[in-house]
Amino acid sequence: MAYPEPLEGLIEAFERFPGIGRVSAERLAFHVLRDPQAAALATAIERAARETGICSVCCNIAQGEPCELCSDPERDAAALCVVEEPRHVEAMERAGVFRGRYHVLMGALNPAEGTEDRHLSIARLVERVGAGAVEEVILATDPDAEGEATALLVVEALEAAPFRAPLITRLARGLPAGSSLDYLHRGILEDALAGRRSVGPRSG
Ligand SMILES: [Zn+2]
Repeated sequence: MAYPEPLEGLIEAFERFPGIGRVSAERLAFHVLRDPQAAALATAIERAARETGICSVCCNIAQGEPCELCSDPERDAAALCVVEEPRHVEAMERAGVFRGRYHVLMGALNPAEGTEDRHLSIARLVERVGAGAVEEVILATDPDAEGEATALLVVEALEAAPFRAPLITRLARGLPAGSSLDYLHRGILEDALAGRRSVGPRSG
């Protein structure tokens, strides 16, 4: 091994990040070691890990249990927007176009990269909808292949549940194909939400 063991450990830690290969991991590790602010990074990681958790209601990464969005009585509990990632909640909130509640799946169906349905918080979503307050489930997964497959999975899970599924809608197709929610302008998100179409329940 060419590197001192602690440096090798740091490189390997970076390599575990999504999309980071060996060369990028080395570059990041050297950068961190040269940066006088490196200790601040370590503290920030430690603090974020210690002071945030998964909200038991919406499965978003949050400070507080339940999170601020789930505890807000001003938000409409009848409309539930289902997104893939916490950053998509951020995008919707930044756009300010939605005043209902969220459910974060924590990923999208992508068996090739190891994300299967059991990794997504779909069972928790079904349980939540089964509790009765939700009148519409808005599927706001990304307009790409994984997002479409994930949306279908949610529709199937809600239809198979032992209660009458609520109205299920999908964001309008005007979204640029293959794009991600977090890169969309406010106007596009607003149009997509306004033009959402029913995708379920498919029978009855
Ligand atoms: Zn929450």
